[in-house]
Amino acid sequence: MQKENLTEEKEITLSAENKTNGKKDLLKGLTFPELRNYFVGKGHRAFRGAQIFHWMYNRLVDDFYLMNNLPKEIRQQLSDSCELKTLKYITSEISPSSGTKKYIFETSEGNLIESVIIPEEVNLDPDQSRFGQTKTDEQQKRTTLCISTQVGCPLDCQFCATGLMGYKKNLTAGEIFDQYSLTANDYGKDKITNIVYMGMGEPLLNYDATVKSLQIFADELTKGISLKKITVSTAGIAPRIIDLADTGLKVKIALSLHSCFDEIRDVIMPINKKYSIKQNIDSVRYYARITGTRITFEYVMLKDINDRDEDLNALKRLCSEIPSKVNVIPFNSLEHMNPTGFSAQLQSSSKERIEKFVEELRYRNVTVTVRFTQGNDIAAACGQLALPLTKGTKSE
Ligand code: SAH
Repeated sequence: MQKENLTEEKEITLSAENKTNGKKDLLKGLTFPELRNYFVGKGHRAFRGAQIFHWMYNRLVDDFYLMNNLPKEIRQQLSDSCELKTLKYITSEISPSSGTKKYIFETSEGNLIESVIIPEEVNLDPDQSRFGQTKTDEQQKRTTLCISTQVGCPLDCQFCATGLMGYKKNLTAGEIFDQYSLTANDYGKDKITNIVYMGMGEPLLNYDATVKSLQIFADELTKGISLKKITVSTAGIAPRIIDLADTGLKVKIALSLHSCFDEIRDVIMPINKKYSIKQNIDSVRYYARITGTRITFEYVMLKDINDRDEDLNALKRLCSEIPSKVNVIPFNSLEHMNPTGFSAQLQSSSKERIEKFVEELRYRNVTVTVRFTQGNDIAAACGQLALPLTKGTKSE
């Protein structure tokens, strides 16, 4: 590569995930300090790092030839030695009823992942008024991108389709970011207002890549979506919740709680045997204190499992102790996965029961949102994301 006036020369070694099969250097996923060091190490001036960072993460450009503030020779050299693309667009589908758009992308190893755009102004459930919800302007305009952090998921939550498909690999920070880059370029960058790490996988089991992707979103050069508009959802990996608080990234956290009782949570979410409710609650209490954010408790309503009066009372108590809100989620069917055993018996709570939870929590001044099923018709709703892990194979 042509050297520019050197101030400093220190070669950095890229990890294996930042090398393509053709042995090019894969720059997508590098944070600002990493990219700056990369360019300095290659003999460039440090500002080249800032330029490429801006093109990649702000302008969402993945072709060096389009970077028109770089000298032609440098564009040529970068094209020869570096790569910016991580994911390949395979297909997309729009739900006619809700406008939800599901994308399928392929990683360089041939794994398939899903991302979903949820325009929340579209087709709000007419029954919403029964829950006393009023639409604010912000809600009407909100368009949320739901991204994946792993291919499949190792957690085996009994109510979740992704768990049923097994686990293949962690996504890289570049692959996590590229779900935003590709969907924003297709759907309209200005239209996406929020991001939720709620697609396939458990973000906190892919901690390093998740944090790197958040650092990229948080960088002032990115100027994309502020961390205030990003939520990381976790099944409850207690020590990583503490770590995330200590990074100083004030992203919002949602804990997939689904029960306040260990004996129930152990069954529906086996990860609870490793990190108990108490450990997770202590962690999110710490998170709320350190970051000054409110915790979202996600609660999938499962008939006769977590919708009894004692469940409601325990949830009310918990919410009175922690700055929090509750996201009540009607259970989305797993029928498209032909589940067996315990998963096959799960049913959503009745509307009346959901309504009771919502009303009683609100009566206690708890903020409650009800996540109405969107994208059910294209299997793009919460917990319905599941694909064959690679093209041409069948999911197990
Ligand atoms: N592993 C992370 C993020 C992925 S799941 C987590 O557990 O939080 C995103 C959300 O969808 C979680 O709250 C999850 O519990 C919920 N979910 C999973 N399966 C569902 C289903 N069948 N119906 C409704 N919500 C579901």
